[in-house]
Amino acid sequence: MELTLTLGKAEIMQTVPCWLCGKPLDLRITKGGKFYLVCDPDGIQCFIRREQGMEKLKKLIKHLARKDYQLEQQAESFFAIQAILREIEDLKQEIEKLEDKAGFLFPDKELLRARDALQKRVNLLLSQLEQVPARKQAETEGL
Ligand SMILES: [Zn+2]
Repeated sequence: MELTLTLGKAEIMQTVPCWLCGKPLDLRITKGGKFYLVCDPDGIQCFIRREQGMEKLKKLIKHLARKDYQLEQQAESFFAIQAILREIEDLKQEIEKLEDKAGFLFPDKELLRARDALQKRVNLLLSQLEQVPARKQAETEGL
């Protein structure tokens, strides 16, 4: 059966994954405004003819988009945390070096001030670290 549809580019969107190959199915719209899903490589055309099916498809697409977004956010949180942990590690090494250099009996006051400044930076990073997952969570939930 040949399809007699005119499809503009705007009428094609990516949607749910193909159940055979896993690539996103194209969502196309018939002249009559009905949806159908297409996987060209697998030769699948799946028509959704009733209102209930179209509503469910819309919900599913929204749900999957939200899931993708959440995964992205989680990855972002992870990298943010890694970056903070690396910086803390570097700062702690610098703090140790400064303490060694400053000396024990007659410590160099400027070196100790530098050490304290670095320690403040560590404290700031620690509080940022505590906020990373919470902030990302709040964004994800649209708060
Ligand atoms: Zn496929």
